[in-house]
Order: sequence, then structure tokens, then C-alpha cells
Amino acid sequence: MSMELETYVWSLGKCTGCGACVACCSRGVLFFPEGKQNPDHRKLTKHFGLSTYEIDPCFGCEAFCVEVCPRLREWGDGKMVSVVSARSSLTAIRSRHGDLLSDVLNQLLVSALKSGFIDGAIITDVDRWTWQPFSRVVTTEEEIYDCAGHQFIWSPTLSSLNEAVHDKSLRRIALVGAPCVIDAARMIQKSKMKGLEIYGKSLRILIGRFCAGVCTHNLVSEVIEKEMGISPRNIAMMDRSAAEKLLTVTLRDGTVREISLANTQKYLRMGCARCTDYLAESSDLSIGYTGSRYGYCTIITRNAAGESVLTRAVQTGHLEITKSVDTNQLYIAKRNKQKRRRSQLYDEELILMLEGLTDPEKRLEALKRYAQLSVRR
Ligand code: SF4
Ligand code: SF4
Ligand code: SF4
Repeated sequence: MSMELETYVWSLGKCTGCGACVACCSRGVLFFPEGKQNPDHRKLTKHFGLSTYEIDPCFGCEAFCVEVCPRLREWGDGKMVSVVSARSSLTAIRSRHGDLLSDVLNQLLVSALKSGFIDGAIITDVDRWTWQPFSRVVTTEEEIYDCAGHQFIWSPTLSSLNEAVHDKSLRRIALVGAPCVIDAARMIQKSKMKGLEIYGKSLRILIGRFCAGVCTHNLVSEVIEKEMGISPRNIAMMDRSAAEKLLTVTLRDGTVREISLANTQKYLRMGCARCTDYLAESSDLSIGYTGSRYGYCTIITRNAAGESVLTRAVQTGHLEITKSVDTNQLYIAKRNKQKRRRSQLYDEELILMLEGLTDPEKRLEALKRYAQLSVRR
């Protein structure tokens, strides 16, 4: 039942907005209401005679939404098989709009597509008029190079999963997304539910971006447009500095404007404040700026599938790599984000207290944990 999501995810502000529950809902009743940070379910009614009844759309459903939600389970550390610095090779075609990170990602995707390892990808693009990101299914080299890539503004990445699997019949999909999106995709892959099988089998490679958080589109409308006087249609690219201190906005005329990341905090999605995964621990391959010198990105491969995509991109001349990575920076960034675990502990305490209203054992447990949390403060 989506009630479980409502109680343990949405009402606690833990939803990451990954879009997995919406994509996998068997009855298509979940949707993202305008301006809200988590999905909701459509009310279904039936008229009978002079009466109108509300129908429970979830009746009899196996609750695929609960099965795939990454916020209903704990995630541990992932393996690291190799860590390298990478950039597009001098001979590779460059992405038309993306920043350096998107360009390296695009080279990985193009080489995987050309060699038949994937038959398409789900990546992020933006509406160039409003700078509203959206999830896009791409199946050609041309389409990949045309995408703007991730823009630190939220969009539900997995919302286009049905388009990829059902409308375009893709069966070897590369998914590029934030760590929470990758966690949800992993849940889909691991699920034993028959209804999710087609999705799990069609996701071939999961590529996660390092992520400290994403903002709502209000950052564009309130800061970039209103305060800085920049029309979204004049934005050519947005990027985050390697040190994660500044957001740079490059305009079409080449001018670069900067926003301190501290000023973007109030636009951060609520679910990001409770998220501890920086390095996309459950991905096949993760990528970000941290750890590499200017002009390069860090790529972590986590298993054979990730290794194979990276090796292919180097062998086909799409990427150049070096072994020079400051892994210490990776560990520091990872540890810093793990400090958000404290917010999660308060969420768990709140749930226990609510359950304790009717269950004396849970009440005792809640009091015990509250005492521990107060000591750690
Ligand atoms: S319980 Fe089933 S029908 Fe209801 S929201 Fe979840 S997936 Fe959709
Ligand atoms: S975290 Fe993802 S799967 Fe869970 S409720 Fe939010 S959008 Fe749905
Ligand atoms: S911080 Fe990144 S990974 Fe975590 S919920 Fe936000 S977008 Fe997802």
C-alpha cells in the first residue's frame, strides 16, 4: 500500500524524488503534484445510484511502490574496484551543451552504445527556455551529445523508465542518476516480484553521480532569474565547482556568474538533508569531480560491468584516463555526508514515538533511544 510510503517516507520529508514508485505503480495512480516534493496518489471514485464512493486503487496490489523505494531500507558501503581520473580524449566529439562531467559521461555512453553493450540510456536534459530539467530516453549518439546533463536542479529521473522499457522496447539500458536513483534501480533489479522483472532485466548498467544534494527549480526562478536578473533562456550551462563551494552559471555570451553554495541551501530538496550517500555506493560505476585535478573527473568502478564500460571507452578512444586521484578527498566528502545520518536517527525516533502511543514496548524503546540521542548531541 502506498500508505507505507505516506507514513514512513513522505510525511517525514525523506522522499528523494527518484520517481521509482511512480514508474512502477501497477495502476498508474501515483504522480508528482505541481510544487510538491513527493508523489501523491490519485483519488478514484465510483458513482452508484445517487451515491459516490471513494475506491481504494491499491486494493489487491502487491505494492510495487514500497518494494522499490530506496528510503525504506539501509544502504551500506559499496566496493571500489578501481579509481581513475578521466577526460574526453582530444579526438572525441564533444557534447554540445554539457559541462565537463556530462561530457565524460556522454563519452562512456556513446562508446557503450556503439559497441552494442547498451541500446539506449536514461539521462537528464533541460528545457532550454525555462531551465527545467527532465528525464530523457536517448538511443542515438546524436541524442546523447545533445543532452545538457545533470544541472543540480531536481527532476524525477526514473519517470521515463516506462517510455524506455515499454514505448521504445529497450532491453540494455544505461541509467545515469543521483545515488538515490541508483539505489531505487538496484531495488528493482533485485526484486523477485514478477511485475518488476521486465524493468530489472532491462537495466544493464547503473551510473551514479557523486551527490551532495539537489535544489528545487525555485533556485532558478527566485535566485537566478529574480535576484541575479538572468533569464533562464540565456543560460548555457550550470556546473558545480570541484571543491563543491560554488555553483557557476555560464551564459550564452560566455559570461560566468557564480552563486555560493551556502546561498542555495534553502532550495535544497528536503529528502537530501537526510541522505548519506555521496559516492553512489550501489552503482556499477560512479563519477564526479571530487578527487581529480581541474579538467578531469573521477571515475570509480565497482564491479565487472563498470570496468567493462570504462575499458571500452578508453579502448575506443573516447576517454583518456590517469591514475592520479586524491582518494583522501573522496573519503572526506563521503564522511561529511554521512554526518546526515543524525537526521535519520531523529526520523526513526519520531516513528517509534508515534508507534509507542499504542504499543508499550515501542514506548520503552523510544525512551531508551531518545536518551542515547540526547547524550550524543
Ligand atoms: S500499492 Fe500498487 S497501486 Fe497502490 S500505489 Fe503502490 S504500486 Fe500503485
Ligand atoms: S524516494 Fe522515490 S520511490 Fe520512494 S517515495 Fe520518493 S519518489 Fe517514490
Ligand atoms: S542528496 Fe543526492 S542522492 Fe541524496 S536524496 Fe538528494 S539527490 Fe538523491
